[in-house]
Amino acid sequence: MGVWGREHSAMDELIKKAAADLAAARKVVALTGAGISIESGIPPFRGKGGLWERFDPMEVAHIDALMRDPVRVWNILVKEMKEIVDTARPNDGHKGLAKLEQMGKLKTIITQNIDGLHQAAGNTDVIEFHGSFARQRCMDCHKKYETLNVDLSEIPPRCGCGGILRPDAVFFGEMIPPEAMWRSRQAVSECDLMLVVGTSAVVQPAALMPVFAKETGARVVEINPERTPLTGEISDYLIRGKAGEVMNRILTEMDFVGE
Ligand code: NAD
Ligand code: ZN
Repeated sequence: MGVWGREHSAMDELIKKAAADLAAARKVVALTGAGISIESGIPPFRGKGGLWERFDPMEVAHIDALMRDPVRVWNILVKEMKEIVDTARPNDGHKGLAKLEQMGKLKTIITQNIDGLHQAAGNTDVIEFHGSFARQRCMDCHKKYETLNVDLSEIPPRCGCGGILRPDAVFFGEMIPPEAMWRSRQAVSECDLMLVVGTSAVVQPAALMPVFAKETGARVVEINPERTPLTGEISDYLIRGKAGEVMNRILTEMDFVGE
């Protein structure tokens, strides 16, 4: 057997293993990152094609930058993010996780993404660790607006009360919403399997969630084309591949019927 044959059968084994582990699991929690949305055309921050190749995060995505010059942050970052988020659609990775919820396996998704695609795919319990770009909130009265409906003829866009709108997302230098933190810890403490999909696991404290899962005795399964700091340390195994393709193969293996 050539190298390719061996790699393929190793991959087949891991898909089978994941399908069996999911079939046996009763409470699955998923932790997702930018990688799961790449197949929906949303660029990641880090790495090739990432936003950070063009911008310095501390310049545009830091809370101090937003407070100092909201017009600049709107023009450089938020307008472009709005365009991307307004038109992006869930891919097979998101849809696969929605099916796992329908099957009664997946209880909660903890996502670092701010694109709203898990909800669009149909998952009902999504903890937005970093908030959402799909909503804007007034800096003065905190009223929320759907980003899709925000009129950009004036930058920065404003609330009915006159206050400036900002993404309802966590900027660098801001705290993780305490409720997201608390609810995540709770969900993780109750799970028996955690799927870690498309996250480089370097942004804290989200990257700690698989560590907590491991501590409570849960199995930790990674889906990512690349190794991460969790690989070989915290995760039981890594399925090296794209989220959408891997989820499809796992679900086929689980013999899920119906749409
Ligand atoms: P990251 O950019 O640090 O890492 C992305 C990971 O995805 C990498 O490990 C990469 O190997 C993997 N990957 C690449 N293609 C993949 C595919 N097709 N399927 C599965 N995995 C794939 O992302 P992060 O760990 O989420 O941290 C970045 C931070 O940036 C997050 O906190 C998030 O808030 C923010 N962010 C969000 C979005 C989004 O909402 N879609 C996009 C960019 C950044
Ligand atoms: Zn207002």
